[in-house]
Amino acid sequence: MSFSDIPVDVGPVYEGERIRANQMYVELGGPKIEKHFELVKVRDAKQIKDGEVILKGPDLKDMEEGSRYPIGILVEVAGKQLEEDLEAVFERRIHEFCNFINGVMHLNQRYTNWMRISKTAVAKGFNSFKMLGQVLIRLFKAELPIIEQAQVTIITDEKEIEKPYEMAMETYSKRDERALGLHDEDVDMFYGCVLCQSFAPTHVCCITPDRTSLCGSINWFDARAAAKVDPKGPIFEIPPGECLNKLAGEYTGINETMKKRSLGELSRVYLYSGMEYPHTSCGCFEAIDFYIPEVNGHGIIDRSHEGVAINGLPFSAMANQTGGGKQMPGFNGISIQYIISPKYQQYDGGISTVVWMGKSVKERVYDFLPEDIRDKIATQEEVAELSELKQWLIEHDHPIVKTWKEEVEEEEEEEAYAEEAGAMIPIGTQALTIPGAGGMGGFKIILKNCKIHAEAIIIKKLEPKKKKK
Ligand code: SF4
Repeated sequence: MSFSDIPVDVGPVYEGERIRANQMYVELGGPKIEKHFELVKVRDAKQIKDGEVILKGPDLKDMEEGSRYPIGILVEVAGKQLEEDLEAVFERRIHEFCNFINGVMHLNQRYTNWMRISKTAVAKGFNSFKMLGQVLIRLFKAELPIIEQAQVTIITDEKEIEKPYEMAMETYSKRDERALGLHDEDVDMFYGCVLCQSFAPTHVCCITPDRTSLCGSINWFDARAAAKVDPKGPIFEIPPGECLNKLAGEYTGINETMKKRSLGELSRVYLYSGMEYPHTSCGCFEAIDFYIPEVNGHGIIDRSHEGVAINGLPFSAMANQTGGGKQMPGFNGISIQYIISPKYQQYDGGISTVVWMGKSVKERVYDFLPEDIRDKIATQEEVAELSELKQWLIEHDHPIVKTWKEEVEEEEEEEAYAEEAGAMIPIGTQALTIPGAGGMGGFKIILKNCKIHAEAIIIKKLEPKKKKK
């Protein structure tokens, strides 16, 4: 495979390249553009022309520097061994292959895809989407030899993208619906994915029927098909082994695999918890489940959310806190599909602990939420200020309110006991994550086998000392 006709370098070494706003020539898709997508479809060999790149809309060289356009990438593939189940897994490789190009940055997937082309790449002559299409065709055929033929269509026109966008959205829904009826206890094999280790070297996705990959693009069926055709590839089998904790979703096989594939960073993972041994997050998650300590509940925000969430942080600030392949209690990258699973964070209390959702996420999952809870979850339209959330939850009889009473009773009991015994309160091992104020990093306090007695704890932000003149 040669890229000698492409004016910029192409190779895995460029994965992870960042292109900042002041370095970009154009931006394609992303949160500021309404309709954009990327899709792979398996076709009959007669339906496509191998090696063909079709462009609908303005080409890169016709775009004004600093501008934004829609982007649709449709990769149609054919091959004797290909089946529809493989489409989603092939589709995820668009992210990887685009990032092989020096001067191209690709983020996310499906209808959240977001690209930037650098000024340097365009100056070197990478000025046509036909080149991008050619790179994709060559990489798809070389890296996945079961693909015998490939054709790429790139759409950058607002009108032209409408129909294919609808087709893509229908395809995604069909894939997601298929995964709905299957649960973790119905299968004897789970799957892992390490495709995102180029960005987050210790991140490993565990894909089960109830826990679709956090990027939302690979469900259990897709992972099974991928591991079957390429068992040594980035998507692989995880025999679950013994179930150590059903509620938490802890399995010996998952723990062992996580340790091996995360360079020793992880040793325990609770599939159904965002608070204890949570699943790691790379950077591609569709949404974030975040803890709201003020009401002992959880919020969910997705990428399309404009402005800040109920905790005062925008998606981007929370994404920095969440991603990177570390276990972050209180911030958990998730797929939209996982929210509607009956196992959704069940170790933490499940869907009935969700008190606030961004409007766009709520609209997407509303019909699938339990009837007795869905109207008790606020969005930014009902409650925009954290100080008003408590009262709103009381007025709407949200089940989280009961936990406040239980907590107060427990605390009172403990205090009474401690006073009576003149003893300090043993609190075992606790991990508390305190989100950073104003979008800063935050910090974690781990207390191991300690006894604490305090009249009060005061946490103050230290301002840097001013230099003396
Ligand atoms: S988010 Fe997970 S499943 Fe999706 S591509 Fe990355 S590692 Fe694979």
